[in-house]
Amino acid sequence: MKKILVTGGAGFLGSHLCEKLLNRGDKVYCLDNLYTGSLNNLESFKSNANLEFINHDIINPVDLKVDEIYNLACPASPVHYQAKAIETWKTSVFGIYNMLELARKNDARILQASTSEVYGDPEVNPQKEEYRGNVNPIGPRACYDEGKRAAESLCFDYFRKYNTKIKVIRIFNTYGPRMNKEDGRVVSNFIVQALTGADITIYGDGTQTRSFCYVADLINGIVAMMDSDVNFQGPVNLGNPFEFTMLELAKKVVVKVGSSSKIIFRDLPVDDPLQRKPLIDLAKKKLKWESRIQLEEGLEYTITYFRSLLDVNR
Ligand code: UDP
Repeated sequence: MKKILVTGGAGFLGSHLCEKLLNRGDKVYCLDNLYTGSLNNLESFKSNANLEFINHDIINPVDLKVDEIYNLACPASPVHYQAKAIETWKTSVFGIYNMLELARKNDARILQASTSEVYGDPEVNPQKEEYRGNVNPIGPRACYDEGKRAAESLCFDYFRKYNTKIKVIRIFNTYGPRMNKEDGRVVSNFIVQALTGADITIYGDGTQTRSFCYVADLINGIVAMMDSDVNFQGPVNLGNPFEFTMLELAKKVVVKVGSSSKIIFRDLPVDDPLQRKPLIDLAKKKLKWESRIQLEEGLEYTITYFRSLLDVNR
């Protein structure tokens, strides 16, 4: 039985990952400081004897015997990371330092959850791994973007100096059940607004694009990367290349929910990327992975989740 540490294990992605690893029969240390994570996310599998929850902040070191580390801990929504910008920077940078030290001590594999945000507001579309990005280093998104960039560079420093078994993934926008309804992400906002009859808030004119991956697909990709050839460090993009505008998404959600909400327009946040779409050729080749659940189906599952969470019968 493998002993696996998942930092950010009570978060949206972390909880799905813990569940998958437990179903596989692994021992899982689910570590979280519960800033954006929630014990509610562990509800459906908390009785599994192989699950151990540790309330801890990876800004501080941790000592455990582990075979693998998935480092997912970090607020990922602009609302949350901007409210705690300095903590976010520390989580990314001190956090990965502490986890790399733990990996080195245990001779463990370590997977770093990096992000499409390392590409910033990209001048090329779609983005492939070689693209070095267009990030504003002093803007309000920098604590997250630059924090994640620094984390990637430290992973590769440990690889070069200590031959640490690193794996770096760049996660593109992901959605699905257990998204935090208050974290301000577009999919959760639109669905909650549509279900409650509130106005649907589009930032800017709604022509900016994103590409959304359903959570179950993404988790398969994350595990495939951890389990891949030790000589493949990445970074590798994980996401669904199907790209659409936020206006298209708003209209689709309104129709799917059968909502009477109207669409309104608000100011576009500072440094909000205008376009984003992953090139996933590398993941296809090295991991034999690509997303399978398309937007229509994934939205159905997510709407069903929020409908029961909010207890609405719309
Ligand atoms: N967005 C929007 N309305 C909302 C929340 C977000 O139009 O209520 C836009 C946001 O400006 C961005 C896109 O949707 O262009 C995706 O935002 P999100 O915060 O989900 O992800 P990220 O910006 O990190 O890609």
